[in-house]
Amino acid sequence: MELLKQRILKEGRALSEHVLLVDSFLNHQVDVKLMKACGEEFAHRFADAGITRVVTIESSGIAPAAMTALAMDLPMVIMKKSVSSILSDGIIQKEVFSFTKNAPYLLTLKTDFVKPGDRVLLIDDFMANGEAAFGGIALLEQAGAEVVGVGTVIAKAFQPGMDKLRAAGYRVEALAPVSRMGEGFIEFQ
Ligand code: 5GP
Repeated sequence: MELLKQRILKEGRALSEHVLLVDSFLNHQVDVKLMKACGEEFAHRFADAGITRVVTIESSGIAPAAMTALAMDLPMVIMKKSVSSILSDGIIQKEVFSFTKNAPYLLTLKTDFVKPGDRVLLIDDFMANGEAAFGGIALLEQAGAEVVGVGTVIAKAFQPGMDKLRAAGYRVEALAPVSRMGEGFIEFQ
């Protein structure tokens, strides 16, 4: 997606060969118009997949997932990273290792909002090692849903997540697959 790639080249900053900072339009300040374009692109790419529900992981997945759900006219569900005292009934959880926090957290889904037979599109902001996606998929499948697609705004294609998901049989679409990055440069596949 050219618009997104140009924005990454303009404002993204590789903090190292492994971590990309895009907090001016995706992770802290959010460019809603760009997220709308991302949502429309996901909707276009997964138009033939018979999706019934868009699911994401808080917090940076919410903007692109909401725009995807809007474009597809479908409900959106947010998997939580922390459990609140008001969320205790009907939840399922899976430990996931956080790439950015370098620590585990309990990914949490309320089963009321995903039903057996649902065909889910899982949307997130970044794909690195695939920990978040595999954790989300495990919960969604435990709830009886089928994950028919995984969409990521940015994929660091040199890290193993995208290949591992595809090897496991999941369809993955990355709007901006980064092949290589480092101080002062970012390259796309
Ligand atoms: P994974 O679970 O695939 O290893 O990592 C994906 C998650 O970690 C995403 O949900 C995202 O929040 C975060 N993440 C991974 N790599 C990066 C990165 O380079 N920059 C930012 N901002 N977040 C990242």
